[in-house]
Amino acid sequence: MTQTTPNHKLSVSGWAAHDSSGVITPYTFKRRVNGPEDVSIKILYCGICHTDIHHVKNDWGITKYPVVPGHEITGLITEVGKNVKGFAIGDRVGVGCLAASCLDCEFCNSDQENYCDEIQFTYNGIFWDGSITYGGYSEMLVADHRYVVQIPESLPMDATAPLLCAGITVYSPMIDCNLHNMTGMRIGIVGLGGLGHVAIKFGKAFGHYVTVISTSPSKEKEARERLGSDDFIVSTDIEQMKSKKRTLDFILDTVSAPHSLGPILDLLKVNGTLVLVGAPDKPVELPSFPLIFGKRVVKGSMTGGMKETQEMINFCGKHNITCDIEIVKSDKINEALTRLANNDVKYRFVIDIAGKSSSL
Ligand SMILES: [Zn+2]
Ligand SMILES: [Zn+2]
Repeated sequence: MTQTTPNHKLSVSGWAAHDSSGVITPYTFKRRVNGPEDVSIKILYCGICHTDIHHVKNDWGITKYPVVPGHEITGLITEVGKNVKGFAIGDRVGVGCLAASCLDCEFCNSDQENYCDEIQFTYNGIFWDGSITYGGYSEMLVADHRYVVQIPESLPMDATAPLLCAGITVYSPMIDCNLHNMTGMRIGIVGLGGLGHVAIKFGKAFGHYVTVISTSPSKEKEARERLGSDDFIVSTDIEQMKSKKRTLDFILDTVSAPHSLGPILDLLKVNGTLVLVGAPDKPVELPSFPLIFGKRVVKGSMTGGMKETQEMINFCGKHNITCDIEIVKSDKINEALTRLANNDVKYRFVIDIAGKSSSL
């Protein structure tokens, strides 16, 4: 349970990795007390994102140990700062990747805080007061209310948690490419995992013809029958790829394993756009010919701003969109991380924080 210690920091129970073995163990740490702009949140669920694996293992060389991962957080508000408007005790809320930004640059002033140069993340970041941020693998969170969204009553708290990262990551580039204002476009989703499966749902909800592009023929039945994809291309089948050349208006590439963009670009019509949201560790192979001969565009996208995140959650509430999840108790976090690393999950693990086991 939380309690206030003499230095006015909250003592909080959670789960952390302490070195690059990435093994998660119980960890008690301090959070700031609820400030005037903050809300305190009793965490109910936290999704496990692929980024968590990179951080616990220090794959990117930036991890500050001990690291408490988790940026797909849902919970209930337990305390509200005196300057906070629009949130009340008991509200169902969510927190994603962002913990702070400068609040005063062109991006912060245009609801694109996610591109602020001083952005700080929900974990492994440095908050304004100089403290290291700890994420959602923990019983509670103190968050600045400007980085918190309301969750509609119609959405379940468990299957909604991954929308705070996986959901907004795929929604934002679709909005950026105006897909919400058009129907009947031909859109492709590369990779059918945590990001890809929810991208299909958004694509269908916007009214488009959705094609999944995957290396695994075994995923076709599920993509078509359960997730509602209209077409399926096996990317390793050269003949099939050839027959679908110049058929798509927009492609979202969610794959973080190394792969060449050339064959994917060939699927785009002239002037088509390919957006990368998967982040391979090594530079991607980007041949110039498919770009030049098709006047095609390749761009990236990283999560979304807070206004857009709220709009995404509201859209999900209206269209009954959630992630397909497997719930794990806190004593199974290590197992879940290993299975996620092996792509052995449909499609997102979510930790049942409030129902945590006492065995770990
Ligand atoms: Zn994430
Ligand atoms: Zn800024």
